[in-house]
Amino acid sequence: MNTYDIVVVGGGPAGLTAVIYTSRASLKTLIIAGNPPGGQLIETTEVENYPGFPNGVLGPDLISNMRRQSEKFGAISINENVISISGNKKDGFQVKMKSGKEFLAKSVIIASGASAKWLGLESEQRFKGKGVSACATCDGFFFKDQEVVVVGGGDAAMEEAIFLTRFATKVHVFVRGEKEAMKASIIMQNKAFSNPKITFYFSTEIREVLGDDAVSGVKTINNKTNEKKLMENIKGVFVAIGHKPNTEFLKGFLDLDERGYIRVTDNTKTSIAGIFAGGDVSDYKYRQAVTAAGLGCMAALDAEKFLTKK
Ligand code: NDP
Repeated sequence: MNTYDIVVVGGGPAGLTAVIYTSRASLKTLIIAGNPPGGQLIETTEVENYPGFPNGVLGPDLISNMRRQSEKFGAISINENVISISGNKKDGFQVKMKSGKEFLAKSVIIASGASAKWLGLESEQRFKGKGVSACATCDGFFFKDQEVVVVGGGDAAMEEAIFLTRFATKVHVFVRGEKEAMKASIIMQNKAFSNPKITFYFSTEIREVLGDDAVSGVKTINNKTNEKKLMENIKGVFVAIGHKPNTEFLKGFLDLDERGYIRVTDNTKTSIAGIFAGGDVSDYKYRQAVTAAGLGCMAALDAEKFLTKK
C-alpha cells in the first residue's frame, strides 16, 4: 500500500491550499480531489472577491491555478472519491477509494466541502451560473438594478434576501410553507419583513425557471390553491434551502454535529488525533472560497506540527 505523510481529501480551495503548504514543507502529500474534482467553485462563473485578482477570475480557472501550484511542489493528485477512513495516530490511517484503491497516511486533512441543496428542477440545473445561484455573497453583485428571487424560509434565505437588496431593485422571497412555520429566527424574519425592497410569497414554489441564454423569469405555483403564475423580468434565482456537508464517508469514525458537519476544536482538530479538517466541511458559517483556503492553510500547519511532534 502506498504510504504518504499526508493525505488531503477534497480538491476545492481548502484542500488545494492545504496541499500547497504541506508539499512545500517537503511532506509527501497525496490529494484525493474528488470525481468530478474542484468543489463548488467549478460551478461558479466569475469570482470577484478572491483577493489578488483585481479583474476577477473564473471559478474553474482559480481551481486549476491552485492545482498547478500544488503540483509544482511535488504533490500527487488523483480524481477519485473516498468511501472510508479508518485507523489511528499510532498505526496510521487507511484511506479507501470507491475504486478499491487504498492509501496509508500518517495524517489526514479532510476538506471535502459541502454541497448546496437544489430544488431538483431540470431548468434550475440548466441556468446554474447563468442566473441561478446558491450564493448571494458570491453572485449578488451581478444583479445590480435587477429583480431577483430567493427560495427558502430559513436564516440563510433571510440573510441572502437582505444582502441582495444592496444591488437588486426588488427581491421576491418564495417560502414553500406558511408564514407561521418559517424556520428563520424571528429576528431575521423581522429584518426581512421590514425591508421595503423584499416581498414574501408563502406556500409558493418554483415550477420552472425561464430564459434563453440566461434567466428571464419564473413560473410559480401556490401549493395550497394550485394557482399558477408567470413572473417576468426576473434575472436571478437564489436557492437558499440549506447545505449538506460531504461527510457520509466519515459516519461512525469522526465526531459530526447533528447536521453532519465535522466538529472541530482549535479551528481544525477533529475528534481523532492526526485528522484535521478545513473549509466548508467544518465551517457552515462563512462558506467563502477565501475562508476555506484560510482554513485549509491552518489545517496544513496543524498537521505539519502533529507530524513533527510524533
Ligand atoms: P434551514 O434548514 O434552516 O432552512 C431551509 C429552508 O429551506 C426552510 O425554509 C425549508 O422549508 C426550505 N426548503 C428546503 N427544501 C426546500 C425545497 N425543496 N423547496 C423549497 N424550500 C425548501 O437552512 P439554512 O441554510 O437557512 O440554515 C442552516 C443553519 O445555519 C440554521 O441553523 C441557521 O439558523 C444557520 N444560519 C444562521 C444565520 C444567521 O444567524 N445569520 C445565517 C444563515 C444560516 P421547510 O421549512 O418547509 O422545510
